[in-house]
Amino acid sequence: MYDVIIIGGGPAGLTAAIYARRANLKTLVLEATACGGQIIITPDIENYPAAMHISGLDFASRLESQANELGAEIKFEEVVGINDRGTEKDVQTDSNTYTGKTVIIATGTNARKLGLPGEEELVGHGISYCATCDGTFYRGRAVAVNGGGNTALEDALFLSNIAEKVYLIHRRDQFRGDAEVVEKVKAKENIELLLNSQVTKLNYDNKLNSIEVTNTDGSKRDLEIGCLFIAIGRIPATKAFQNKITMHEDGFIEGEYCHTNVPGIFVAGDCRNKEVRQLVTATSDGAVAVHEVLKLLNR
Ligand SMILES: Cc1cc2nc3c(=O)[nH]c(=O)nc-3n(C[C@H](O)[C@H](O)[C@H](O)COP(=O)(O)OP(=O)(O)OC[C@H]3O[C@@H](n4cnc5c(N)ncnc54)[C@H](O)[C@@H]3O)c2cc1C
Repeated sequence: MYDVIIIGGGPAGLTAAIYARRANLKTLVLEATACGGQIIITPDIENYPAAMHISGLDFASRLESQANELGAEIKFEEVVGINDRGTEKDVQTDSNTYTGKTVIIATGTNARKLGLPGEEELVGHGISYCATCDGTFYRGRAVAVNGGGNTALEDALFLSNIAEKVYLIHRRDQFRGDAEVVEKVKAKENIELLLNSQVTKLNYDNKLNSIEVTNTDGSKRDLEIGCLFIAIGRIPATKAFQNKITMHEDGFIEGEYCHTNVPGIFVAGDCRNKEVRQLVTATSDGAVAVHEVLKLLNR
């Protein structure tokens, strides 16, 4: 019987493991693939306090070592469901069932993909899903943003202060984002809007060279850019908990103070319904979730 079972070994889950072990809780982390989560694909983190210029991989491996050193048990199994039996929760993986007094769901999100050939291997070499993270590497160059919501609009604004030129590509004739953000984007001289348009091809060797953009009228343009920032949404990795936990319609788990609707099941990190999804907010959630676990166990 574990005091806490943490689902997901990303920044939120591993921080929760660190806090749980420092509180002497018997702690199990279940990670589907490799520890570290989304951040492992970024070459350089510049915005985590007191850790200037650390690669995502280094950041992740330090977190994993810290959790290990403090005595967290980490198993590499994918969680497929939770069975709530009140004071005991059974966590089912693809190969085992583990029982805990409490559970923290920290499964993060996956970026929605365009699904074009080359997209996956070009991540870090001209394809990015995070403008605030990777924009600075394309200072003074031409870049493109694909998407029509607030994230894409804000990415375009952010990049317009760094890049020489920003193409904003959206498949519809109007943006879905807030009117005032749309106005700000339209007022920027170095942002060119390509509406009714889709990215239809990535041209690359070992890095992205250009993209083919096709308009609904059938016309095509080839844009030479340093990076294509894809902002067509993120998908929370919460399918396994769909019928048990209350979620926002887009699949993010509702969780004020990291509590879900089920007593003893908590949520931390990017899979929680919130506005800012960054390392600091993920690690912060990990600490808060354990604080709430302790309150419950000590009650
Ligand atoms: C390219 C890129 C660059 C970024 N750069 C920065 C940056 O510079 N600064 C910054 O602050 N933020 C950055 N971010 C955002 C940051 O990475 C996230 O906010 C953070 O990783 C969220 O942590 P998390 O633990 O909540 O989720 P994740 O990092 O998504 O981790 C979730 C973990 O859960 C695992 N998992 C999922 N489902 C299951 C399951 N069913 N069973 C078991 N395990 C499961 C996953 O394999 C994963 O390891 C970046 C994101 C990306 C994509």
